[in-house]
Amino acid sequence: MVAIEVRPVTADQVEFLHELVEHGLLIESGVPGIYGHNEVFEDVRGRLDHRLTSEAAARGAVRLRFPPLLPRHQLELSGYLSSFPHLAGSVYAFEGSEAEAIAQADRASRHEDWSEFQRMTDLTLLPAACYPVYPAVAQRGRLEPGGLFVDAGASWVFRHEPSQDPARRQMFHQHELVRIGEPETVLEWRDEWAELGLALLRSLGLEAELDNANDPFFGRKGRMLAATQREQALKLELLVYIAGPEPTALASFNHHLEHFGSTFGISLADGGTAHTACLGFGHERIVLALLRTHGLDPRTWPEPVREELSLS
Ligand code: ZN
Repeated sequence: MVAIEVRPVTADQVEFLHELVEHGLLIESGVPGIYGHNEVFEDVRGRLDHRLTSEAAARGAVRLRFPPLLPRHQLELSGYLSSFPHLAGSVYAFEGSEAEAIAQADRASRHEDWSEFQRMTDLTLLPAACYPVYPAVAQRGRLEPGGLFVDAGASWVFRHEPSQDPARRQMFHQHELVRIGEPETVLEWRDEWAELGLALLRSLGLEAELDNANDPFFGRKGRMLAATQREQALKLELLVYIAGPEPTALASFNHHLEHFGSTFGISLADGGTAHTACLGFGHERIVLALLRTHGLDPRTWPEPVREELSLS
């Protein structure tokens, strides 16, 4: 068996994970970073989802929803495999004979490697909830003047980074809002939402800070990409302390410039290439930050926080 690489964690993170499991909020699966949620956890997450959806709708967002699988061709076009090959997951399936099916089942019954019987399909796991939006919008033809604001909802997304840190999941809900349009419109929207996001988290009693950030790009070339991203302030994050020495990003606001517009052929009303920006709120991380800050029983949370989430 190949040992699975698990990211290092602090005692504080492991202890918080145990507390969450003991209280039934998280349900362990035996694989780090894959958890079920109980009703209490899901109730808070559902209220948060509703809150974000309403804020976006009030500002003119159009709702689109996609499954948590992405056509392989779209992932290949996006550049994800050059930037984040270590985080991607793809779907394989059996396409063999009866004899191979028996051999596979036999191998699996001993929990041994049965990957030789599996073949790549046309699907990958969704790495970010905004990815299906760009080709979908490109298909509609030229944008109207002013572009488009899409609420892509809270999809399950996959990142291959097993960890004992309860805030670092392999699968979690990422609520993505996407703005597609003229360069200045998109940049203004990104900055406006960074402030709105900050105000939203603070209204939930979280000590959030907005900071410049970079993505965890792979390899040596990745370090250069990360430096450029910081220099140009293309990524902002809302940070809150959950567990461990570093604050955790609960939301990120990404400016892609022309990347997705030119990759998928999204045209502005005047025929130019559209700029795009997206923002992603990590539902589970926000719920964990609330549980850590206000206690593991939402019934005892401060009244203003309960009111913000319509818990009372
Ligand atoms: Zn995104």
